[in-house]
Amino acid sequence: MLKDGEKGAVVQRDKKTYAIVPHVPMGVITPELLRQIADTAEKYGVQALKLTSAARIAMVGINEEDIDAVWAELGADPGAAVGPCVRSIKACPGTTFCRLGMQDSLGLGTELDKKYHGYSLPSKFKIGVSGCINQCAENCIKDLGFVGKRKGWTVAVGGMGGARPRLAEMLTTEINTEEALKLTQKIMDFYRANAKKRERLGKLIDRVGMEELKKAVLEG
Ligand code: SF4
Repeated sequence: MLKDGEKGAVVQRDKKTYAIVPHVPMGVITPELLRQIADTAEKYGVQALKLTSAARIAMVGINEEDIDAVWAELGADPGAAVGPCVRSIKACPGTTFCRLGMQDSLGLGTELDKKYHGYSLPSKFKIGVSGCINQCAENCIKDLGFVGKRKGWTVAVGGMGGARPRLAEMLTTEINTEEALKLTQKIMDFYRANAKKRERLGKLIDRVGMEELKKAVLEG
């Protein structure tokens, strides 16, 4: 049996078959990849195609001996679905498509995805980018969230779901996209340097205080 994450596969409840999740940045998929996923699923008798909460398509119920061939046919990279790292980044359509968008959430999300998808951290790390205050990317339960407003991005940190959900707290506001990318790196550096193993960013903030984080990432 494969270890969780080996070959980009996660063992399923039946303890025999696996799910794989092709990387589909921001949930924006090409017709070609969509067709390829459907054709490959049929060819290898995949039990289900499950749209995930992270806007990806999980191919569920694959036999172990077929995993390499399925990846080869897809021609796609695995999404970082397990382990202590930056998971898929959720971004709404923003100014690219949505009439309410104030900022380019798909653009910022794409930059973040290129740099950080799968980036190793003390625990799993979720990012949400929304083009306006409606927060369709569910920023309030993300470790790091950006909300587009007229004058730039508002940044919130420390949100999470799970057994003890925690809402994100505002870190700063009115920053541009370049500043948002720099701030992201500072937050990751602080998190890496201070968190215990498997400690989510919100738990770290509860332990050391929001002021410590602000001092480290906003000053200087
Ligand atoms: S968060 Fe705002 S911009 Fe993004 S999809 Fe929702 S309504 Fe549109």
